Amino acid sequence: MTKSLNHVFFLLLMILIIGSGCSKTEETKDPFYSPPPQADPFITAFVSDLNADSISAYTTLLQNMQPRFMLSENRRAIAMFIRNKFIQLGYPAVQVDSFYLTSYYNDTTYHTWQYNIIASVTGTTSPDSIYVIGAHYDATLNSGNPWIYTPGADDDAGGVASLFELARVMKTRNFQSKSTIQFIAFGAEELNMDGSNNYAQKAAITGKKIKWMLNHDMISYEPSSVQTDWKVNIMDYANSTALRMNAQRVAGLYTCLGTANDTTHNKEGDSYNFFLRGYPALFLISFSSTPHYHTLQDVIGNCNFNYCREVTKLSCAMLVEQNK
Ligand SMILES: [Zn+2]
Repeated sequence: MTKSLNHVFFLLLMILIIGSGCSKTEETKDPFYSPPPQADPFITAFVSDLNADSISAYTTLLQNMQPRFMLSENRRAIAMFIRNKFIQLGYPAVQVDSFYLTSYYNDTTYHTWQYNIIASVTGTTSPDSIYVIGAHYDATLNSGNPWIYTPGADDDAGGVASLFELARVMKTRNFQSKSTIQFIAFGAEELNMDGSNNYAQKAAITGKKIKWMLNHDMISYEPSSVQTDWKVNIMDYANSTALRMNAQRVAGLYTCLGTANDTTHNKEGDSYNFFLRGYPALFLISFSSTPHYHTLQDVIGNCNFNYCREVTKLSCAMLVEQNK
């Protein structure tokens, strides 16, 4: 090759390199590029329909059903009340998933029927894939007589109320979900998390495709009225780190909540039974720890339903983002 041909070749090469550099966009130039997070207006509008007064009203109804101790005689009546509420909200096919349980409490053995109540939005394209939002409707006391009065407003009437509110908004918006969404009010949580154990065990045996589960348990306690103080503790498990990081992102986009990740108590809620069967799950709980836990003071007057609405917005945004 002659010297002059070398020059021409070099020039052509430079033009190619510079030209190709200019035509590349930011995304293709940097393999780690991700666009700045932006809220989807559809989801923002969706979650803004969630109403704190509705959540408060549903919680009051549940607090007034007494007692809500899982061994007391009225447990079926409470389960039927929850079933009927879902029917009123537009879910006529609500399932009463019952199971027979042997429990031990104060040195006595009890044999009872227990009930998980399941309301579903059937998926339009992947009905076999399921997203679960759960809360438990039974309540207890650490001291005192739970057979008489167990208000359990924050633990966990507020969680069940948040399911009603999610179900209400999805129905009024006529949300056509790609996958199936199940709102599950679990029975028999307080002694041994038996409701969720029964559901998750049956799901694993029958090969149900549960994509993830979010547990709403104690999401209505927040003493501060200053929104910038509000935080939700997102407890994850060994198989749900990515889901927790996604929840943190969604919280930043669609709620006013800060997030924490203190997993100290992650085995003490229904989500744990999903983790044990290999399903990714998160336990959502107020970051402010309540002094009213399992006491007679766990009443609606000590709840903050504007705060509960924000946690509900988080789950709602995650469901809608995944299924719109
Ligand atoms: Zn609870």
